[in-house]
Amino acid sequence: MNAFLSEADHSLFILLQIVGTNIDILPGWLSSGGRPFIIAGPCSAESEEQVLKTAEQISRIPQVSVFRSGIWKPRSRPGDFEGAGENGLKWLAKVKEKYGLKTTVEVAEPEHVELALKYNVDMIWIGARTVVNPFSVQSIAKALEGVDIPVLVKNPVNPDLKLWLGAIERVNRAGIKRIIAIHRGFHYFEKSPFRNAPMWEIPIELKTIAPDLPMLVDPSHICGRIDLLHEVSQKALDLEMDGIMIEIHFDPPHALTDASQQITPGDLKKLLDKLVIREKTGDITFQNKLEKMRTEIDKLDGELLQILARRMEIIDEIGEYKKEHRITILQMKRWAGIIRDRLAIGLNLGMEESFLKRLLNLIHNESIQRQAKIFNKNKK
Ligand code: PEP
Ligand code: MN
Repeated sequence: MNAFLSEADHSLFILLQIVGTNIDILPGWLSSGGRPFIIAGPCSAESEEQVLKTAEQISRIPQVSVFRSGIWKPRSRPGDFEGAGENGLKWLAKVKEKYGLKTTVEVAEPEHVELALKYNVDMIWIGARTVVNPFSVQSIAKALEGVDIPVLVKNPVNPDLKLWLGAIERVNRAGIKRIIAIHRGFHYFEKSPFRNAPMWEIPIELKTIAPDLPMLVDPSHICGRIDLLHEVSQKALDLEMDGIMIEIHFDPPHALTDASQQITPGDLKKLLDKLVIREKTGDITFQNKLEKMRTEIDKLDGELLQILARRMEIIDEIGEYKKEHRITILQMKRWAGIIRDRLAIGLNLGMEESFLKRLLNLIHNESIQRQAKIFNKNKK
């Protein structure tokens, strides 16, 4: 089970995996011939010189299709650099004209949408702080009615798949069929090397529910530092994400925002050249061997479930027996013994301790619930 979802949400997502969502995406609209789709550019547009210099260098990297830049910056405290505003849009128009790159900016309000359209921005994105607020997303969606422009929806700051999906649905209901989900990591209190923990299971769950929805990774906001950018980008591609949105500055140490996570266009080129692009499907020999291994897995899963069902039957018998003899359900000593014993067996078989603990707990909880049901049955 996804560790970050409540049980009710998890059941909803399992149902959505089976019946699908009614998100209506234009099939294959982002396809770039199997190559990752790359969006690159500074966190913020700071000056005309910075924008044009960065864009000129980026335009020499053939893999990059879109130039990104924040124009209105959502900062934690007022008074910090809050973006170039409308002037920035004029610089982006020059990027298009001079270097032939498409452009994208973040919008947080209907007025931003209007201005982005006025200056012919090619795509807009909705940022992580905006996606947390359905009121804001709804007002942006309203401004998009009747407009045909690709919209990128970042995940919300907090690990809430429903909120992310909800924002995508609101945009889609406004008639936008070219949507991209952007995975930029999640705020999490536990210590981690990341600025925003990737929690890969959440984007994977979204991909499972909405398979037609293209998804990019934003390694810059996940990492918050430059030494992990390659690793995170590669992992995203290995998980069949469609590309990368990354922050690039011609002079990162002097960037006005997010200086620690930006790299130069030269380093972007190196990063992209180092990425391994794997095939999604292989040749016939590969397919055959894979199919054989999958059949084996199907068989084992069937056996696993039968064994579990048999275990539950015996649990029920134990429940009846305990009830008859007026013995409590929870036998802590026995349980501690089981954990110790099964953990040792599992570890010996090369399995992860945290996985084994979660699995054993899940089985134990289910066993207790079944016995509790038996105890409550026919209670006078
Ligand atoms: C950004 O891309 O510059 C940005 C503000 O990102 P996020 O919304 O993911 O924090
Ligand atoms: Mn940024």
